[in-house]
Amino acid sequence: MQNSAANLPPIPSPNNRRIALRITATAERSIRQGHPWLYENAITKQSHDGKPGDLAVIFDSQRRFLAIGLYDPTSMIRVRVLHHYKPTIIDRSWFAQKIKAAARIRTALPSNTNGYRLLHGENDGLPGLVIDRYAGSLVMKLYTPAWIPHLSLLISILLELLNPTRIVLRLGRGMQRYPEYLYQLTDGVLLFGTPLDGPVLFLENGIIFEADLIFGQKTGFFLDQRENRARVEKISQGKRVLNVFSYTGGFSVYAARGGAHKVISLDQSQPALDAARRNFAHNQTNANVATCHHDIHVGDAFDLLQNCAQARQIFDIVIIDPPAFAKRHVEIEKAIAAYQRLTHLGILLLAHNGILIQSSCSSRVSPAVFYDAIHKAAKLAGRPLKEIRRTSHALDHPIKFPEGEYLKCLFASG
Ligand code: SAH
Repeated sequence: MQNSAANLPPIPSPNNRRIALRITATAERSIRQGHPWLYENAITKQSHDGKPGDLAVIFDSQRRFLAIGLYDPTSMIRVRVLHHYKPTIIDRSWFAQKIKAAARIRTALPSNTNGYRLLHGENDGLPGLVIDRYAGSLVMKLYTPAWIPHLSLLISILLELLNPTRIVLRLGRGMQRYPEYLYQLTDGVLLFGTPLDGPVLFLENGIIFEADLIFGQKTGFFLDQRENRARVEKISQGKRVLNVFSYTGGFSVYAARGGAHKVISLDQSQPALDAARRNFAHNQTNANVATCHHDIHVGDAFDLLQNCAQARQIFDIVIIDPPAFAKRHVEIEKAIAAYQRLTHLGILLLAHNGILIQSSCSSRVSPAVFYDAIHKAAKLAGRPLKEIRRTSHALDHPIKFPEGEYLKCLFASG
């Protein structure tokens, strides 16, 4: 059992005995190239069974060390690799180095931004673990129970390196299926520090936003769209802006600060739209935000866009940032059709030479397929698009492996 300053239930320590694995030739090639995932069906031989969080050593066909990672019997991704090529000791100082390196990269962010992704899972060397910072608060989001036996250690490192006021735990969807490996930990639980009495406030490019760290989507805010929001601010002067899938109005407040005359935030979530209203309220000292006419539409985006089109509403900028439609391989075709439907509807509402901004956060839909689908839909609608730019990840969302490249965004005029 482990102890620390954290509010943790008793959690068994990982097994001292490392699991030894032999794997297929194909998997060996992939791991040799630095890929962080070993799938269950690529294992040909295993020394003994393990629990989530035990360390597993992967050997090559010559019985030489290939990699070491976290074992997870609950997932098809059976091992998430921590370290490739040379044997090493995975201990406190090893974890601390990874977190320090990730934090160092983020020092390049502007000082008026204190909400950002501090550690981006696989892409920062700690697969299946995300740490987001919102001013003094940290949110640790786990995508595998393999991190739970290491939580105490991670928390003590975060306290030492970053001195946060609190640490909140969020659990990825799939983790609820194996309560026996959660050891009473629940989504949204406070691991350290002052309890929350509502959303926290933080700064993004000087704009005050709130984030609900416990009940909000992701870890409370879509930090990955920061740069695209800033791009929208720059083109919003005097414009009518429609923000579809607005969540808590991130793009909307930027558009307002950029001088948009009117902004509509549209989402199916009433709590998200209530937060969007509050996010406008938090920034009333900015004259542009104070004078912008902000409205909210709650409901299904596909239906509401259709209604707007029937009512012949027109916007100079239409932003479409839907959730990940393709979470599984079989959903790709349907996702593409949904993106195209949204492009079609968005274009119906777009003024002549207006700007369409459309995103996809489904890693299963490749950039090439996504951009092609949007262009096809626009042509079919009789409004071919002229590209302004394609954007990808910001520095706090680095890409280190193919599946890590999920965010795509097109700015185009039509
Ligand atoms: N653009 C946002 C993030 C969007 S996340 C930002 O910058 O913060 C996707 C949003 O789509 C979520 O808020 C979710 O509530 C909403 N959503 C999902 N399906 C929807 C639907 N069919 N109609 C309207 N909103 C939907």
